[in-house]
Amino acid sequence: MADTLLKPDLCIIGAGSAGLSLAAMAAALNVPVVLVERDKMGGDCLNFGCVPSKALLAAGKAAHAMQNSTLFGLECGDVTIHFDQVQSHVQDIIRTIEPTDSIARYEAMGVKVVTAEGRFTDDRTLQAGDYTIRARRFVIATGSRPFIPPLPGLNEVRYLTNETVFQLTTCPDHLLIIGGGPIGLEMAQAHHRLGAKVSLIEKGEILAREDREAAAIIRQQLQSKGIAFYENADIHAVSTEESGSVRVDFKQGQEDHALEGSHLLIATGRAPHFERLGLERAFVKVRNNRIKLSSSLRTTNRRIYAMGDVSSPYQFTHMASYEASLLARKLFFRLPIRVQKHLVPRTLYTEPEYASIGLSEAEALQCHRKARILRWSYHDNDRAIAERQTNGFIKVMTDRRGTILGCVIVGARAGELIHFWGLAMSQKLKVKDIAATVPAYPTYSEISKRASVEFYKSTFSSPAVKRLVRWLRWLG
Ligand SMILES: Cc1cc2nc3c(=O)[nH]c(=O)nc-3n(C[C@H](O)[C@H](O)[C@H](O)COP(=O)(O)OP(=O)(O)OC[C@H]3O[C@@H](n4cnc5c(N)ncnc54)[C@H](O)[C@@H]3O)c2cc1C
Repeated sequence: MADTLLKPDLCIIGAGSAGLSLAAMAAALNVPVVLVERDKMGGDCLNFGCVPSKALLAAGKAAHAMQNSTLFGLECGDVTIHFDQVQSHVQDIIRTIEPTDSIARYEAMGVKVVTAEGRFTDDRTLQAGDYTIRARRFVIATGSRPFIPPLPGLNEVRYLTNETVFQLTTCPDHLLIIGGGPIGLEMAQAHHRLGAKVSLIEKGEILAREDREAAAIIRQQLQSKGIAFYENADIHAVSTEESGSVRVDFKQGQEDHALEGSHLLIATGRAPHFERLGLERAFVKVRNNRIKLSSSLRTTNRRIYAMGDVSSPYQFTHMASYEASLLARKLFFRLPIRVQKHLVPRTLYTEPEYASIGLSEAEALQCHRKARILRWSYHDNDRAIAERQTNGFIKVMTDRRGTILGCVIVGARAGELIHFWGLAMSQKLKVKDIAATVPAYPTYSEISKRASVEFYKSTFSSPAVKRLVRWLRWLG
């Protein structure tokens, strides 16, 4: 059969969070658009990432709440966990969301969906199955895959990744996790709460790029519940025992360790997905295993752009959607764009949650000579006390004039609370504006106001202010 030639304005390769967002915006503006997907609509987020991981965490949270209800004066008795049913719940959640990302929905919007692997054949043509696509513009949104580290013996053993871990129907007896980033930590807590023994092995420190005090709280909380952490571990062998269990040999300092587990999960980060795209034929350059991009997300081929996990500094669904919205401005309205990385929150959905935005404490102190670090503890928040969720804090970084530079929150609902600070930073508000808000009592949001008021603490306690108040009182 002869190939069908398509000549849309826009061709997007990859129907994950990034590709779907841009395709929907193109269709809404009546821009002829072809969306090429070689596997499942919805990409990683729906099928192997955010959605199943949050569904599994939710099941773990429910189990944990049942097992720890005595503090609230409740007695549940023994809790039985049917792991196969937990995984059915996970699949059910995926099925519930699936229609939003389906081919039927996108075609109804006016998007032409091609289900095949796309590959560039020259600088302005993509071949996908029986389709030859010559578009005015292409956008690469092919996402990422699990990065598998070159550990001795790893290729000889059976291991899980985020693409297979949600297919388990029995709970691992002992889950070994290599990698202490967000995926490793979320999977550690979810499986532990659902009945697995969990050991986490990390070559550096957990959450290496995030706030150290917050990482310490997360480590302490997970450790106190029984998850074993082996940080600064130098793995020198991975093998399968005769019994069928997986063995990981590593050194911590001078000490040798050997851990045996029933299952091994590799969660050592993500690698961009572009090997089979034929980038060289399209003159799209790659540097340090990353697609070379301008600040307006353009590759070295002026017709081709890239967004989402494949090229982004932050691998989050909201980053992918944000970049898609920027590209919509650029491609459909010809407006200039610039990725404002400092406005994108970084989140972790363990209990306690973690969220940060903008500069870290160390960066703020390095870039601003008189940076202020404002804090408030969950221990001093009445809602947190009532709900027994006092482990956590907020830390707000400002310059000496109160301009907000960044925020870190670890504790209950951190992922929700951070948006307030995102809005404040995007609108260039100052801490005085946050201090002037009236949060409802008792809410977790009060920690934001309390941290902001800390900015004025020295003013309130200054002798000059006290003198002023005395003088005003004297006036009557
Ligand atoms: C376990 C886990 C949990 C996560 N949790 C969160 C979370 O809670 N919050 C959050 O914000 N982020 C989370 N993420 C990250 C999030 O999933 C990704 O950032 C997001 O999916 C990136 O979207 P994307 O569109 O760039 O790529 P993807 O979702 O990976 O989509 C890329 C698509 O391109 C397709 N493709 C690849 N090559 C080709 C080709 N040559 N031709 C055609 N199609 C192709 C792929 O099949 C895929 O469908 C998580 C990730 C994992 C792994």
